[in-house]
Amino acid sequence: MNPDNILRGFPDLAAVAETCPRGCTHLADAPDCALDEAVERGEVDPARVDSLRRLLGSLRG
Ligand SMILES: [Zn+2]
Repeated sequence: MNPDNILRGFPDLAAVAETCPRGCTHLADAPDCALDEAVERGEVDPARVDSLRRLLGSLRG
């Protein structure tokens, strides 16, 4: 598993994440993650972002 594989499981979020800065981890502490902006605009489901971040965070171990 790597971040790209995980994102493929969340196609709606992956489309948003394509606009993230290069090298964005998409985690809660990522400074300019587009997922945060999309949640603020109500464009994505915050629960799905949480699920994605749990999976991505588990990679960092
Ligand atoms: Zn991001």
